[in-house]
Amino acid sequence: MQQHKAIIIGSGVAGLAAAIRLAVRGFDVVVYEKNERAGGKIAVIEKDGFRFDAGPSLFTQPANIEALFELAGENMDDYFSYQPVTVACRYFFENGKVINGYTDPNQFAAEMQEKTGEPRENILRYLHNAGKRYSYLGNIFLEHSLHDKKTWFTKDIFKALQHTRASYLFTSLNTYNSKQFVAAETIQLFNRFATYNGSNPYKAPAMLSMIAHVEFNEGIYYPKNGMISIAEALYKLALKKNVRFCFNTAVSKILYSNNKAEGIEVHNDKVYAPVIVSNADINDTYRYLLGNQQRFSRLQKQERSSSAVIFYWGIKKQFPQLDLHNILFAKDYAAEFDHVFNKKNIYNDPTVYINITTKYDPSHAPEGKENWFVMINVPSDSGQQWNELVIELKQYVVHKINRLLKTSIESLIETEEIYTPQTIAGKMGSYRGALYGASSNSRLSAFLRHPNVVSSIKGLYCCGGTVHPGGGIPLCLKSAKIVDSYITV
Ligand SMILES: Cc1cc2nc3c(=O)[nH]c(=O)nc-3n(C[C@H](O)[C@H](O)[C@H](O)COP(=O)(O)OP(=O)(O)OC[C@H]3O[C@@H](n4cnc5c(N)ncnc54)[C@H](O)[C@@H]3O)c2cc1C
Repeated sequence: MQQHKAIIIGSGVAGLAAAIRLAVRGFDVVVYEKNERAGGKIAVIEKDGFRFDAGPSLFTQPANIEALFELAGENMDDYFSYQPVTVACRYFFENGKVINGYTDPNQFAAEMQEKTGEPRENILRYLHNAGKRYSYLGNIFLEHSLHDKKTWFTKDIFKALQHTRASYLFTSLNTYNSKQFVAAETIQLFNRFATYNGSNPYKAPAMLSMIAHVEFNEGIYYPKNGMISIAEALYKLALKKNVRFCFNTAVSKILYSNNKAEGIEVHNDKVYAPVIVSNADINDTYRYLLGNQQRFSRLQKQERSSSAVIFYWGIKKQFPQLDLHNILFAKDYAAEFDHVFNKKNIYNDPTVYINITTKYDPSHAPEGKENWFVMINVPSDSGQQWNELVIELKQYVVHKINRLLKTSIESLIETEEIYTPQTIAGKMGSYRGALYGASSNSRLSAFLRHPNVVSSIKGLYCCGGTVHPGGGIPLCLKSAKIVDSYITV
């Protein structure tokens, strides 16, 4: 039996980052991955000459990735490149308005004033405040453990508290936005940021307004060759740092005794190590790997983030009116969220997100054609009849696209693949198909998320989108950094 010093369960983006960080520190790192490749939710689908990013499509905060290359003493350009995107998203409204979400705040403010009458100062003030909030609060909430007393007794926390208003926690994002803006389109556009972690803007706290800062003040980026290149680059970097990978190898158990992690069980064999990092969904970590049904039941009480139905369509035409990221907004946003989070059903006028990477990488589709990733927010899986619902939903989506883009999209779909919340749960190992673990709909959500250190089992750590600080690639990378800071062996 071989003895390893650090075992990582799962090679999602956080598992890869944790592996790199520990290898740089001199650990002998082995990653066990049940899939045949690294990346987890970052994956590709190739079909009939079209190539689609299967999971995440929006890339922000590249500094989290740059930091890993710097730490490893490697030149990132040899592994990975990306470019800034000037229009973060193109928004289409039922009233016929089309708005470019420029990543330059001044240009965006001018666009909003021209298209909606929203005074440009409102936009600039909002983004300025979101930026200030991010620098004071974001750094504390996202870069540190919230379960460690040390986090709460620093100078930074006092500064942050001075800049915290009760309204950021006690009012919803929608209520906050409604007070900041006059135009209905602006309120809806800024409400959308709650969906970046799968939450409901009519419930989630105004604190989430910080997300707008990331998109408009920091900007968004396109990784050359698509999102999969993030996983590929980190995998290569891990190999370079002598991390070993065991693919097609599902870990069945985390071994511990006397409250101390000892190793894992895999293929009926035991592998020992004093440090274990689980990058699996936290629900699975407790339910299967630790066999702790009591803790699993407690986790289940937290509301799930939204899931999605995704249509991957090969389209036999190019649409110059569309950009890399596009949103076709629901007319009644409140009704849509009521369906997703309360009625737990599909809505007949859904917001439709269309991502088209051929706008930046034409090789992702045959000449003259486009690869459409069409995503609709839906509830996490609680036993709905997805096979039937998806047929109904497709009709709503097709009507919406035809109406807003003045086309006849059914006749242009050359090839199709569909993911439902059940597919996402199965293929992407995400409990009930939630895209971002637990939702942030309650003001306590940030504190209820599972910590990165398992206090009851010394030597066991957790990283990834279902633990602190939350879902999305940037936060997953931060979770690996927090884990690294607590490993002392
Ligand atoms: C459809 C979709 C769209 C999204 N859009 C965006 C976006 O635009 N931008 C963004 O930043 N984020 C987005 N996200 C969220 C983002 O993809 C995730 O938060 C992030 O990729 C999760 O990474 P992770 O480190 O938690 O690991 P995961 O990607 O969840 O991977 C975990 C890995 O662990 C492995 N594993 C699990 N159990 C075991 C076991 N027992 N043994 C061995 N291996 C195991 C799994 O096979 C998997 O490879 C999206 C997610 C989805 C699903």
